[in-house]
Amino acid sequence: MTTRRHFLRWGAFALPQFNLKNLLIEKPPVSKPVVVSTWDSGKTANNGAWPVLKSGGRALDAVEQAGIASENEQSCCVGVGANPDRDGHVTLDACIMDNQFNCGSVVFLERIKHPVSVARKVMETTPHVMLAGAGAQQFALANGFTLESDKLSADARKTYEHWLKKSAYKPVINVENGPKPRPSKKGNGPFAPSYFDDGSVNHDTMGTIALDSAGNLSGMCTTSGMAFKMHGRVGDSPIIGAGLYVDNEIGAVTCTGQGEEVIRMCGAHLVVELMRQGNTPQEACRAAVERIVKRDPERAKTFQVAFIALNKAGEIGAYSVQKDFTYTVTSNETPTTVLAAKR
Ligand code: ASP
Repeated sequence: MTTRRHFLRWGAFALPQFNLKNLLIEKPPVSKPVVVSTWDSGKTANNGAWPVLKSGGRALDAVEQAGIASENEQSCCVGVGANPDRDGHVTLDACIMDNQFNCGSVVFLERIKHPVSVARKVMETTPHVMLAGAGAQQFALANGFTLESDKLSADARKTYEHWLKKSAYKPVINVENGPKPRPSKKGNGPFAPSYFDDGSVNHDTMGTIALDSAGNLSGMCTTSGMAFKMHGRVGDSPIIGAGLYVDNEIGAVTCTGQGEEVIRMCGAHLVVELMRQGNTPQEACRAAVERIVKRDPERAKTFQVAFIALNKAGEIGAYSVQKDFTYTVTSNETPTTVLAAKR
């Protein structure tokens, strides 16, 4: 089983004499086409996207395939098998954006296996950008998607039952010196459900950004959001400008972490605008993280926010509030997971 903590520190083996700090900010060399996804579980997403990019296909098709591959996994945080909200419902959020500012989004969607594809349908066949809840499900069913079981997956049930013992809403996202995850024995995906002894749980979102051979950018984001959230809560991930933004003249950005903090700053849009001002993707991600932290530095010790950015030239950047944020890059057959620089 792969976990977020199994990663390659870029160059760590080639350059053992470098100190860790230098290694963390080393940028992976890339060439076009390229796809970048959040976390080491981004391997699954990138493996979905790569065949499209390799054969000269569109970044839009590639990122949709990335989302589908992630949603097919048994995972804590993406797709119908993910952790539920506090009332026991799995509610899914996803969005997609192409190289011409076309975008589509679904929020609070239940029992549909591929929210990313529903988001694409919203983008391509409706005059709207976002559909929510029962309306989004109705739209999905009318467009040939099928209704999945309303039962929790075995892993999600186990995690939920554990959480119910205390029912404390306590999101923990890779916080430094935080509790150690206790993986579910039944977990079989690359990001299998894990929970902590104090009842808190992991939350990860799959965000993917890609640059195709024609030089066009696209992105997608898919998630079940924060586990044990209030029923009806929607995070940053399906919000265009917060969890994802693509400006084909500048770059593409997505993120993971505490969605409320990202929404306040219009995170992904902010990073794109910082790149427009001449910052590298790395500098832009860092400046956005600093802005989020500045609002409340004390509180920022308790949450994670992490951005990944890809500019028009194929340069990649990433930066996170807390340690342990990884992202995965594919620019040839082999995905490589990189530990992001942190504040
Ligand atoms: N950003 C997601 C949300 O707030 C959660 C995550 O990325 O871990 O819903």
